[in-house]
Amino acid sequence: MSLQAFLSRRVVTPEGIRPAAILVEGERIKAVLPPDQVPTDGCKIHNFGEAAILPGLVDSHVHINDPGRADWEGFATATQAAAAGGYTLLVDMPLNCLPATTTVAALEAKRAAAYGRCRVDWAAWGGVVHDNQSDIEPLAAAGVPGFKCFLINPGIDGFTMVTEPQLRSALPHVARTGLPLLVHAELAEPVDRATDALVDADWSHYSTYLRSRPDEAELAAIRLMLSLCREYGFRLHIVHLSTSQALQELRAARFEGLALTVETCPHYLHLSAETIADGATLNKCAPPIRGRENCERLWQGLKDGTIDMVVTDHSPCPPAMKRLTEGNFRTAWGGIASLSVALPLMWTEASRRGFTLLDLARWMAAAPARLAGCDSRKSRIAAGYDADFVVFDSERELIVTEDSLHYRHRVSPYLGETLRGVVEATYLRGSPVFAEGKFPGEPGGREYSGNIRRSTA
Ligand SMILES: [Zn+2]
Repeated sequence: MSLQAFLSRRVVTPEGIRPAAILVEGERIKAVLPPDQVPTDGCKIHNFGEAAILPGLVDSHVHINDPGRADWEGFATATQAAAAGGYTLLVDMPLNCLPATTTVAALEAKRAAAYGRCRVDWAAWGGVVHDNQSDIEPLAAAGVPGFKCFLINPGIDGFTMVTEPQLRSALPHVARTGLPLLVHAELAEPVDRATDALVDADWSHYSTYLRSRPDEAELAAIRLMLSLCREYGFRLHIVHLSTSQALQELRAARFEGLALTVETCPHYLHLSAETIADGATLNKCAPPIRGRENCERLWQGLKDGTIDMVVTDHSPCPPAMKRLTEGNFRTAWGGIASLSVALPLMWTEASRRGFTLLDLARWMAAAPARLAGCDSRKSRIAAGYDADFVVFDSERELIVTEDSLHYRHRVSPYLGETLRGVVEATYLRGSPVFAEGKFPGEPGGREYSGNIRRSTA
């Protein structure tokens, strides 16, 4: 089997950042060695010098929209953007695609759509909707790593929200699988009430949109989910936390011992409401980007471990749906695509707050891999793991242009920004999938499934 060694002065290993050589045999890491112990016989050497080598990033929150809405994104373009961004595994959300991933047949349709088209590895969350309680355990047996539900209308045909009674009939099934339930935590009632009061407001102002999705909607949803978690004993994961007002209760729930994890996204950590211009609907997402102080408190939540991970919530759409000409925050599609620039975005913000690449590896690889049940093979530079890496020049500047985006529709709120750090190359199971701005070879990404953990209860 072919032997390769990847050298750098700064290899991000679970034990720390150090000079090392990663010895790779075939698709797996064989050993992590001091640089002077690389075998000289028949070993291909790649020396990256001062550029850091991090584990391949894992994004457990991506909307690939395929099959059914591949004109919005699709496996080929999403995984290409992922490779350019340093990601080696994506977990697809069960909505936006048609059929939505709420039955085993729909999961099979997704497998067919992905076949032969992915540049990085992937997996698919199953959906929990109003009427698919009997599909939950079969989906787990078919290989989904967990489930996603909405407590508010997701605003897209083909996927329904769940009410509390519907959730209560689904939760015993979810608990039996031992897999996590990912929850879009906003309740409809506070959002509807706030939105109704704003019918005559000027929706070209970002502040109008922000007022329509109050902190209270997130808080109430999180409280409901924590109490259900206590009652049913399932693994709860809060997706895209935006309000810092929930941090204290989330911290207390953890302290109490609930099986709880929390994510936030680069846009909540980089953008703030005060600087979003009128009509700048590229910044619309739900829950919304809130104020600057809130943003700093989210960083505190990452620091103290209340927030476990940072994932993109990459959610593109055809540009026309962003209503860029009329700039209407009410009618524009909500969602921000960032797979290809998330690492530089995060490094720009994290490095100026004193965090290191080790923190980024924890937030953007190890924790999402654990959530998706692939942490025995992915997200670590250690013997036995898949040889997935990103080579990251953390000192170079990146100016975000359309050419740096790589997904289907090259619109972004980040265009023109100068960020810190450039992804130089990405390796998937020992082979380059992104290097020098290009995507070498044929798409070789595979589905990661079957690492199903069953509840012992
Ligand atoms: Zn999402």
